[in-house]
Amino acid sequence: MSKPTPPSEIAREVLRQLAARRQLPTPDNYAALYNEIAGTAAAEAFPEKPMKALAAALPRATAEQAKLTRQFEAAVAEKSWNGIKDALLALAAPATNEPLQWSPLIRDLLTQLERNHANLTSSRKRESLEHLLQSTSAPELLHARLQSLLRAWLQGSAAEEFALVEDPAADAAGVASTADAALAPAADLSPVLQSGSPPESASVSSATLNRNLREWFATLLDDSINTLLTDVPELAAEASQLAREIRHIRPTTDAIDGFTARLKKFSYRLEFLAEDQNELHAALLHLLRLIIENISEVVIDDRLLHGQVETLRELISKPLNLRQLDDVERRMKDVIFKQGMLKKQLTEAQDRLKSMLISFVDRLANLTDETDTFHGKIEICSRKISQAGDIGQISEVLDEVMAATRVMQLNAQRSRDELQEMRRRVSETEKEVERLHAELSQASDMVRIDPLTNVLNRKGMEEAMEREVSRAHRQHGSLCIVVLDIDNFKRLNDTLGHQAGDAALVHLATVIKETLRPQDTVARYGGEEFVLLLPDTPLDESVTAVTRLQRELTRRFFLHNNEKLLITFSAGVAELNGSEPATAAIQRADQAMYLAKRGGKNRVVAA
Ligand code: GH3
Ligand code: MG
Ligand code: MG
Repeated sequence: MSKPTPPSEIAREVLRQLAARRQLPTPDNYAALYNEIAGTAAAEAFPEKPMKALAAALPRATAEQAKLTRQFEAAVAEKSWNGIKDALLALAAPATNEPLQWSPLIRDLLTQLERNHANLTSSRKRESLEHLLQSTSAPELLHARLQSLLRAWLQGSAAEEFALVEDPAADAAGVASTADAALAPAADLSPVLQSGSPPESASVSSATLNRNLREWFATLLDDSINTLLTDVPELAAEASQLAREIRHIRPTTDAIDGFTARLKKFSYRLEFLAEDQNELHAALLHLLRLIIENISEVVIDDRLLHGQVETLRELISKPLNLRQLDDVERRMKDVIFKQGMLKKQLTEAQDRLKSMLISFVDRLANLTDETDTFHGKIEICSRKISQAGDIGQISEVLDEVMAATRVMQLNAQRSRDELQEMRRRVSETEKEVERLHAELSQASDMVRIDPLTNVLNRKGMEEAMEREVSRAHRQHGSLCIVVLDIDNFKRLNDTLGHQAGDAALVHLATVIKETLRPQDTVARYGGEEFVLLLPDTPLDESVTAVTRLQRELTRRFFLHNNEKLLITFSAGVAELNGSEPATAAIQRADQAMYLAKRGGKNRVVAA
């Protein structure tokens, strides 16, 4: 058995090796090399600082706890892992029902409140105490938190630092969260998920609540937020990553702190993105408004765009609504299609006019040619006459002249007829071009809108109905159809005139549009009959909505020559049944409306 090398020898060898390996002579390097040369195991350094922080967080609510915590502190001072283990096991054992010691605690609090502490003003101490008293009602928890607060005052800033590490969400009470951290179970994420006030008492359901909240939070990130971020793939990926993390987060302070920090960063970026998008939205609307307002400056003949411009102007004057956007798009497409057709016809008519003018000019040129030929012939004839020796020769020439003149006459006659016919056709085509121009500018003023009341006309209503019915069937939502008819409208027309009747129709349409929700559809079904489509509204709510409309109409009476006139209507409401076709539902609503008339008018009847 060889003699062990004396420590001084080993120490010398360690210094030599440090120099040879060009390592710095730090205590760690020295210790590691010493252990290597001596062949001894490296002694693990005792984590003194974190253990002291842990000791500061242990509960002292009861005398028993205080004793065990002191025991823990002593074990830490001695670096005794066995002592630490014993103290922790004893602390974790079920508590004996020892009464809380309030008097010494209150005495201590009063004393410490008066005393000067480093980094703590007395008003700050009072504030923390007040907050704690307000936010805690369970006596055990209150006792523990007061103890903890007292300790924090005694330890000054050190305790506050610890509190910040443990619970970033802690508020003015700051130091009190040291106790929360000690009392809350390790897996409890409540400091992260519940902003601010910590739970009053830990119950079994709080773990379930946490799990559910985590899952909801993950779903929110994964499904909802993610879909909003399709234009920003990098942020969408971050949302999915955060969702994965929150589902599998480890219940340690480090993991939660890391997650919280990333979540904060993510939420800042979302906020910036939302601000950007709001600005973009506002800028686009502004641009659109600018274009609309200046379109007549830019386009030489803006009559063709009049309807589109008006529709857009109305659309952007209110908060944007998807259903309306959809509606406007359809209307625009219609107009564009109709204008396309008319433009084609117009171009064809104009081409026809052009080619007729060309042949007109050709005919005129021919006529001149023929006249020239005739003049030439006459000249030759006149030369022949002057040179003629006898009457017989003259008579021959005269025959020639006669023949030429006859041909000339015929040609002239034909040409005149042709020219007249052409002139007629030209003027016809001119008229057609004019008509097409007029129709083109009218087309812009919409094909699905009732020009008087500016709500959908029957055709527009049929299309809107088709859309709403298929939406209701698809989404299994409710759709109500209302048929309403103005009461005694004929009398109004007869006594005040047709124009007053028209104005009353406009008034009613305006009140309806302003009273119903943006997603509802209003259409003029015929003379003084209107149809309303109320999506996602059950029968009873629809009846209420139409009754509200009646009240509104009594409030906003119709003014004719400064005379207040009351317009009333009768209405029938039908809710679309299962796969019932739209026409059947309208018919039911119409029958209900008829019953309302029979029942005395100015009322609403559900089908
Ligand atoms: P009830 O209470 O039973 O509905 O009676 P009413 O007089 O309202 O109904 P009726 O069907 O007898 O008459 C409807 C009248 O509405 C007849 C027609 O002159 C008038 N009307 C229809 N379209 C228009 C329009 O565009 N402008 C005007 N001014 N009147 C119209
Ligand atoms: Mg009627
Ligand atoms: Mg009527």
